[in-house]
Amino acid sequence: MTHQTAFAALDAAFPGRIERGEAVRAQHGAGDSWHPAALPDAVFMAQSTEEVAQAVKLCAAHGCPIVPFGAGSCIEGQVNATQGGLCIDLSQMDKLLRVSPEDMDCTVQAGLTRQALNEELRATGLFLPIDIGAHATLGGMASTRASGTMTVRHGTMADLVMGLTVVLPDGQIVQTGGRARKSSSGYDLTHLFIGAEGTLGIITELTLRLSGIPETAKAGLYSFPTIEAATQTVVEALQFGLCLNRIELMDALQVKAINAYNKTELPDQPTLLVDLAGSEQQVDTDRDTFDALASENGAELHPVNTPEDYSKVWALRHSALYAARGLRPGCKSLSTDVCVPVSELPRILAETGADLDAEGIIAPMHGHVGDGNFHLVMLFDDGDAEEKARVQAAHGRLVERALAMGGTATGEHGVGLGKKKLHGGRARRGAGAYENAQARGGPGQSDEPGQDFRSLVADDLRVCA
Ligand SMILES: Cc1cc2nc3c(=O)[nH]c(=O)nc-3n(C[C@H](O)[C@H](O)[C@H](O)COP(=O)(O)OP(=O)(O)OC[C@H]3O[C@@H](n4cnc5c(N)ncnc54)[C@H](O)[C@@H]3O)c2cc1C
Repeated sequence: MTHQTAFAALDAAFPGRIERGEAVRAQHGAGDSWHPAALPDAVFMAQSTEEVAQAVKLCAAHGCPIVPFGAGSCIEGQVNATQGGLCIDLSQMDKLLRVSPEDMDCTVQAGLTRQALNEELRATGLFLPIDIGAHATLGGMASTRASGTMTVRHGTMADLVMGLTVVLPDGQIVQTGGRARKSSSGYDLTHLFIGAEGTLGIITELTLRLSGIPETAKAGLYSFPTIEAATQTVVEALQFGLCLNRIELMDALQVKAINAYNKTELPDQPTLLVDLAGSEQQVDTDRDTFDALASENGAELHPVNTPEDYSKVWALRHSALYAARGLRPGCKSLSTDVCVPVSELPRILAETGADLDAEGIIAPMHGHVGDGNFHLVMLFDDGDAEEKARVQAAHGRLVERALAMGGTATGEHGVGLGKKKLHGGRARRGAGAYENAQARGGPGQSDEPGQDFRSLVADDLRVCA
């Protein structure tokens, strides 16, 4: 065991609560990714901001690395404790602290999940409009700048977080932002922590902007002859300003996987799943318009008329990742996402499809195409070093392609260990400009091989000279 002096101090401060059992460490040593697990030396289930601050202070004093942990649903190896140390699990800090229906905002502890929040909010007629495919905590979602199917209408976590309470790497507790709908009061520190993946501090509370539950929502399901026809329909629907709440694309292979996984019989063709939300009249009118646009682009329309049908088609969509993995049982999956300007979607999908076909890689695609964001689930045999290398190389080319089109290496999954290497030289060149933003390399996380703040700046900062 390393970091013995830190753990002795932590044991004294929190008797019996610094857990070293193999099982609990294993639960905290990996997210939902292909990266090998890396266990922390110990796990601390924090109960309050003050406890987090105390634990961080002790770790800082003894140079012990810290990994904050929410629900562990991350996909890019963000929670893997590559340097051991202490995992601070926030999941027991799960209270809704305050809700203001008049102001349409609330304050929560970081360990509350979005599902639990929306359950608690139901009676108010409000909800947090972020629909991601996993059970995740709001602190973890802010830290990966999560988004999902509703981004096309409501934005990402970056648009919904108004203020934060954060424990800094030295144990100081700070508050950023607040409840005002806007502020021009200097630096926007709140957004420095959104997407920081725990490298700049540990979020313990969040103030969130809420939305009203729409009067009605209806879905539409459309099979297209080609990906191009589907993406053309997306572009046209966005230009028409329809009341789109979600607009999701699945390629033919993804639909085949969903059929096999759910025992459904959708045509194995590129498919759009659309959700329109608003008043009854607006939704009906806009769905008619969408039907017409889709038909003009050669689509076959599948009726989704009842609330049961509505729930069923969205459940199919949410099964996409596990359905994709089901295509090659026993294999690992490199699940990745990139995001490009919507107009570049047909080109990146065509070029990537050709690349994957040439390499013989099985990789179903699904995506939040209203935002230009799509996911590939690249399947490989972990015991086959040649195939694994081929998949990783194709993954690298995908990211380069997205960056070259003015896109980003990841639209919502984050950087973690998976995208860190792909940032390569960009990260090193950009790091200097961020050096002053952080006194140290994050809450105890420093250089290779773990995650640090330099891996997070590459895509967002271009050093031009
Ligand atoms: C089936 C499936 C579907 C998914 N679908 C989506 C999707 O649609 N959209 C999307 O965006 N993501 C999706 N994800 C990825 C994942 O759910 C998100 O990245 C989520 O935001 C992670 O939240 P978490 O609570 O599980 O955080 P964790 O996985 O526990 O942690 C994620 C990162 O945040 C840090 N962290 C956690 N809590 C805190 C905190 N309180 N303060 C500071 N840092 C913290 C961790 O150190 C780590 O770097 C999906 C994952 C799965 C498995």
